[in-house]
Amino acid sequence: MQHRVIVLGAGYAGAVAAGRLAKRLRREDVAITLVNAEPDFVERVRMHQLAAGQDLKPRPFSEMFAGTGVELRLAKVTGVDVDGKTVAVVGVNGAEELAYDTLVYALGSGWNAQGVPGTAEHAYEIAGRPGALRLRERLARLDAGQRVVVVGGGLTGLEAATEIAEARPDLDVALAARGDFGDWLSPKGREHLRKVFGRLGITVHEHTAVTGVEAERVATADGKTIPAAVTVWTTGFAVHPIAKATALEVTGTGQIVVDGTMRSVSHPDVYAVGDAAMVMGPGDKPLRMSCASGTPTAWQAAAAIAARLTGGKRPNMSIRYFNQCISLGREEGLIQYVTADDRAVRAVLTGRLAAVYKELVCKGAAWSVANPTLGLPTWRRRVTRERAAAGSAVKAPA
Ligand SMILES: Cc1cc2nc3c(=O)[nH]c(=O)nc-3n(C[C@H](O)[C@H](O)[C@H](O)COP(=O)(O)OP(=O)(O)OC[C@H]3O[C@@H](n4cnc5c(N)ncnc54)[C@H](O)[C@@H]3O)c2cc1C
Repeated sequence: MQHRVIVLGAGYAGAVAAGRLAKRLRREDVAITLVNAEPDFVERVRMHQLAAGQDLKPRPFSEMFAGTGVELRLAKVTGVDVDGKTVAVVGVNGAEELAYDTLVYALGSGWNAQGVPGTAEHAYEIAGRPGALRLRERLARLDAGQRVVVVGGGLTGLEAATEIAEARPDLDVALAARGDFGDWLSPKGREHLRKVFGRLGITVHEHTAVTGVEAERVATADGKTIPAAVTVWTTGFAVHPIAKATALEVTGTGQIVVDGTMRSVSHPDVYAVGDAAMVMGPGDKPLRMSCASGTPTAWQAAAAIAARLTGGKRPNMSIRYFNQCISLGREEGLIQYVTADDRAVRAVLTGRLAAVYKELVCKGAAWSVANPTLGLPTWRRRVTRERAAAGSAVKAPA
């Protein structure tokens, strides 16, 4: 009998985990099913580009996974029963239940409205493709001089504001940041940011917490309002509620708590990767939701599952940060080098070179989904029956 591995979600983390497992395990031993709601790979890191009117390269999974042995199931996951070891999905055949021996949970995240009144009704978001397309359509209908307010001074907010301002110089783009503008960056990084925002004519409202969104304006904590024909909400990501509705141990925000091998601390048959997982990184700080740390969590989980099933050595890779790659439109960028635990150091790369660097990083991230072992040789190992049977009973040490 084959060991059934089900991977939920084919974003950067889930797709890489499925692909790596297929390269490490024999097809006659293991059936790998990848469940995803959409038929093609969505490059989430480019959603601001999609919103600003650029067309992204289509990346159908049928091509990306051709010949790998990974079975793609187009369906929406509606629930997981971690005690019964089944997943509830709705696909072309209606509602179904899929049984697994090992589950990899990689459903990613969406936007985080943070309960601010009016966001659901009036704000636009770019955390996923439907939101980005909706904003794209709205921006196309704006007349010259109309105001777009991007709420959130984090990485996504910076990328969104600059991309929109560059694509539509006729619009009046503003950004509202809760604290100091770019306060986590090095002095050189901040200076560059200010220069680029100035050049693109983007107004920055610092120390501005947005407390409400209306059709034509946003309200701020100091009692003022900022006119806004369009409000773009980019204040972080929130995970989907599916994990929280299970018996899995999750954080208050619904991320699955895992050990260093990405294995659930409460249910040893379940692994979680990418945004969906709460992973402790260097300096005992949780990894931030990002492609940069999500892909290594997938490598780690795939290696751990393969080792568990084949009797190999459990991997012990430390996941660390090297830089934050920020696009500032198509012509400009900022590469902020960081410590292992993601704190800015002095060194930065700026200008056209940084834009090219960031573009290569995005291309590389998509390439690594189709080439999950990064071109390294494939060593498929045999699953031992005892290991496969015992796997669920053996709990990995933290
Ligand atoms: C505009 C923008 C720019 C970004 N820039 C960067 C950057 O420069 N660097 C960086 O490191 N990170 C960046 N990020 C963050 C990064 O995109 C995410 O952290 C990353 O995509 C998380 O990967 P993931 O595989 O965990 O989840 P996702 O990429 O979100 O993938 C989840 C998958 O699960 C599927 N799914 C979800 N729910 C269901 C369901 N119920 N049923 C079936 N399928 C489902 C989705 O369709 C998707 O395919 C950016 C994000 C945005 C929005």
